[in-house]
Amino acid sequence: MASIFTKIVSGEIPSYKIAEDDNYFAFLDINPNAKGHTLVIPKREENKIFDLSKEEYDGLMSFSYRVAKALEKAVPCERIGMSVIGLEVPHVHVHLIPINTMADMQFMKKEKLTEEEFLAVAKRIAENFE
Ligand code: 5GP
Repeated sequence: MASIFTKIVSGEIPSYKIAEDDNYFAFLDINPNAKGHTLVIPKREENKIFDLSKEEYDGLMSFSYRVAKALEKAVPCERIGMSVIGLEVPHVHVHLIPINTMADMQFMKKEKLTEEEFLAVAKRIAENFE
C-alpha cells in the first residue's frame, strides 16, 4: 500500500508544497515543531534512510541542502536543525526545522498554525528555493 507521503507526492493527500524535482519532494510538516518545519523525501518509497543507495542518499542530502538554504532566508531563526527519525511514517524523510533552542528539536513542543500561516510560510520558502 502507498505510504501517506507517496499519496502526498501524487496529490491524493493535500500538502503545503515547497519544491520538487524528478526524484525528491519537500513540503511542510503538518504538526510542526516550529513555523517552517519542512520534510524532504525521496519520491521512491523506502522505509529507512540508510537503505537508500548511496546515490539516492546523496541526492536527498543535496536537495535538503537547497531547501535548508531557502528556509534560512524565509524564516528568522538561530539556525536550521536537521533530523531523521521515521518511527511514525515508514517513508524516508529529512526534518528541516528552524530552531532557536534545543527544545525546538525535541518533537514535543508543537506549534499550532492557521491555514493562512501554513500557506504564507510555504510560499516564502518556495520563493527562496534555488
Ligand atoms: P517521524 O516518522 O519522523 O517520527 O515523523 C513523521 C512526521 O510526519 C511527523 O513530524 C508528522 O507531523 C508528519 N506527518 C505525518 N502525517 C503527515 C501528513 O499527512 N502530512 C504532513 N504534511 N505531515 C505529516
